[in-house]
Amino acid sequence: MKQYDYIITGGGCAGLSLLKQMMLHSFFRNKKILLIDKTEKKQNDKTWCFWEQHPGLFEDIVFHSWQQIDFYSDTFSARFDLIPYQYKMIRGIDLYTKVLDEAMQPGNIEIVYDEVVAVENKESFAIVNTKQNTFSAHYVFNSISFEGWKQKAMQQKNIHVLLQHFKGWLIEANEKYFDDHIATFMDFRVDQKNGTAFVYVLPVSHHQALIEYTMFSEKVLEANEYDKALDDYIGNTLQINNYSISHIESGIIPMTNYAFSKGEGRIINIGTAGGQTKGSTGFTFQFIQKHTAKLIDALMKHSNPLHLQQFSVKRFHLYDSILLNVLCNKKMNGDKLFAQLFRKNKIQAILKFLDNETNFSEELKIMKSVSSSVFIPAAIREMLAF
Ligand SMILES: Cc1cc2nc3c(=O)[nH]c(=O)nc-3n(C[C@H](O)[C@H](O)[C@H](O)COP(=O)(O)OP(=O)(O)OC[C@H]3O[C@@H](n4cnc5c(N)ncnc54)[C@H](O)[C@@H]3O)c2cc1C
Repeated sequence: MKQYDYIITGGGCAGLSLLKQMMLHSFFRNKKILLIDKTEKKQNDKTWCFWEQHPGLFEDIVFHSWQQIDFYSDTFSARFDLIPYQYKMIRGIDLYTKVLDEAMQPGNIEIVYDEVVAVENKESFAIVNTKQNTFSAHYVFNSISFEGWKQKAMQQKNIHVLLQHFKGWLIEANEKYFDDHIATFMDFRVDQKNGTAFVYVLPVSHHQALIEYTMFSEKVLEANEYDKALDDYIGNTLQINNYSISHIESGIIPMTNYAFSKGEGRIINIGTAGGQTKGSTGFTFQFIQKHTAKLIDALMKHSNPLHLQQFSVKRFHLYDSILLNVLCNKKMNGDKLFAQLFRKNKIQAILKFLDNETNFSEELKIMKSVSSSVFIPAAIREMLAF
């Protein structure tokens, strides 16, 4: 059995973000590191958008960024200046290529393409079983979801489960149509009958934009319903009739207050499998970056990476639960809820809140901006269940 200091199972966003951070520190140069993924990354399967104030770890592969965003709904619409934030886009393929190319250089990193079937703890190490081999390490950082989280979540009391499901088209318009300085963050002016639905428009040039139709609901739609919604939006709302589709992406992100396991013993879960997806929004990219940075810090201090200090996590988990409670119990439509939030708060305060970085007095202001008749009963119910 081949032995390593660290094994990273799953080379997606979380696995490669962790590997990238490891390559930045001399502490890891003499450590034997193994990355395992079931497939080679040859396609752009995901586009990540996130906001930040300063250049991040992947600044050199930011594909496009915007300093202004638009918000639309039937009751409130506005344009917001994000400064000091920028809304940024990174293409999955650029992140995969960058990190995997860099991993070839130092000589202490191995990459294996094989399907992981199980990870398990032994006394002072962990082992990874793939279809073809068994490996061991002091720590395994796992981004693979082996358990059916949804089934488990549904069996628990007071757990809300929604799916954020979406399909996006990268379109090329025949004419100069887009202002590539302004992104549409959320446009709720679409049918809301099957769930909270919105479209976002991310122009990357005057001719090209990624347009995604997104819904928060219990069930996904039929494949053709996403296409129809995109086609309607592009034709009727954007009034673009001449265009071609150069890329398609789709996905499902969990929106839940289910507590994903952080890991156990020598296995540390990372990424969505480790609970880094924000329950009320589905945003994950920046949470992965912050989590992996903390793991690196813990390893370098020789402290247990499972025991990270996360004082405010419980508070934000409660806020996510309250919001999910309102959406799942249909106490208020998502378009109305987000319209209240965007109408009554500064955009910077909203982004900070959605990043789990506000303090309690900032959170009180946000709470006051949404309907108390809806949110107070939901908050009481969630606090009793906490
Ligand atoms: C299409 C899409 C777009 C998204 N856009 C955004 C966004 O704009 N902003 C944002 O914040 N979040 C976004 N998310 C949510 C989240 O950021 C991503 O899902 C992100 O990729 C999660 O990272 P991860 O490492 O947990 O999972 P992944 O990136 O999916 O990585 C998991 C890796 O594990 C590998 N794997 C799985 N099973 C096995 C196995 N048995 N053996 C070996 N390898 C295995 C997979 O091949 C994959 O490479 C998006 C999600 C999707 C699906």
